[in-house]
Amino acid sequence: MKKAELFRHVIAYFEKNRPDAQTELVYGTPFELLVSVILSAQCTDKRVNMVTPTLFKRFPDAVSMADASIDEVREYIKSISYPNSKAGYLVKASKIITEKFHSSVPQTMEDLTSIPGVGRKTANVILSVVFNKAAMAVDTHVFRVAARIGLTTGAKTPLQTEEQLVKNIPADKIPLAHHWLILHGRYVCVARKPLCHKCGLTLWCKYYKQHTKSE
Ligand code: SF4
Repeated sequence: MKKAELFRHVIAYFEKNRPDAQTELVYGTPFELLVSVILSAQCTDKRVNMVTPTLFKRFPDAVSMADASIDEVREYIKSISYPNSKAGYLVKASKIITEKFHSSVPQTMEDLTSIPGVGRKTANVILSVVFNKAAMAVDTHVFRVAARIGLTTGAKTPLQTEEQLVKNIPADKIPLAHHWLILHGRYVCVARKPLCHKCGLTLWCKYYKQHTKSE
């Protein structure tokens, strides 16, 4: 099957079955989403959502968090992974946003990745979720699911996956496609043993074809 055909089938499937896919992080402002995404590294969205209501009540914006001590921020996030380094990132990021970007989360990859704690993946999440830009954030789920289905070929790095997906998915569907692949990876095409019997992509999936051939 040609790549373009595969993408057409997969996009049509998700459009029908996950039309309203969106982030599971709970946030109210671009700053809150940025904080949540930084906190979500190596941690589940569910756990992040448990600490952010009180964190955001105490620090509703970059200005208030920029004035905080790392120790104080750490107290609010101590139940999630890597609280020390994440507290440091949050305070430093808030200072940069306040001083360099007039207290607003910036809208370009270059500016976003100049913020401590913000790598390409986090920047792409902000660009796509907040600013609706054609940016594909590649996390472990997107990387794995795209490769299994066959949407990517031989991608060795998240950047290669991102480039192949962006090249083949229509720009207006990229923000949604990011959530499609994450949610599919989280709940169906799980890492250890994909739940193919619950998946509607078996007709087109490369992994499924390869693993059922000999059975
Ligand atoms: S058929 Fe199986 S391997 Fe392929 S996308 Fe679905 S769950 Fe993943």
